[in-house]
Amino acid sequence: MAIRIEAPLTIALSKGRIFKDTLPLLGQAGIEPLDDPETCRKLILETSHPAVKFVLIRATDVPTYVEWGAADLGVAGKDVLMEHGGTGLYEPLDLRIARCRMMVAGRPGADTKARRLRIATKYVNAARAYFAARGQQVEVIKLYGSMELAPLVGLSELIVDLVESGNTLKANGLVPIEHMHDISSRLIVNKAAWKMKHATVLALVEALRTAVAGSPAT
Ligand code: ATP
Ligand code: MG
Repeated sequence: MAIRIEAPLTIALSKGRIFKDTLPLLGQAGIEPLDDPETCRKLILETSHPAVKFVLIRATDVPTYVEWGAADLGVAGKDVLMEHGGTGLYEPLDLRIARCRMMVAGRPGADTKARRLRIATKYVNAARAYFAARGQQVEVIKLYGSMELAPLVGLSELIVDLVESGNTLKANGLVPIEHMHDISSRLIVNKAAWKMKHATVLALVEALRTAVAGSPAT
């Protein structure tokens, strides 16, 4: 059912799996993009609703745009939100899409209790917090991608990465060792927009909540 929109809304999304999985949910709220981001190269997409636009940005930048109010709402993975750690955001809804697990992984038989472990990861805050919580001192090495390589070339003993099927780990001779967090994408809302555009934002949150309840998790 289309929602009543009384204020202009900018929604920050990232291309790829988040866009693909968010679209059917927004569609149920009556909001559809007028262009396909995979083919059109535009960074701002008009939608079927004249007051609603999408901005397409890198997944890790979504919380920043929303926190600064350049977008009223956004969709971001819990992994990205944990790293961002922002305070200018509300996180009213788990969209239950782009689900995976944040895990510690390494070579088979890797000793996770060893002293002076090195952990290579994109998720430095999550990794530090996880090992600190059990009183283990580790050295966290920041990477931007292809974490699976690190234990193979001796950069680190372990990695912290997202795992869906485990096939990428397996293909590189690694195994999942500890499950840290369940990850899914969340709807995030700028705090000022939540107040100033309350009726519209709430209508969208509730429409998405209904859509999520009726959708198979992905
Ligand atoms: P880029 O690939 O451009 O470096 P990214 O890896 O942050 O950026 P995506 O791969 O599109 O972007 O991932 C976006 C979000 O989807 C992640 O933040 C995470 O929440 C989720 N995600 C990532 N990998 C997986 C996966 N293998 N299975 C399910 N969800 C995933
Ligand atoms: Mg990626």
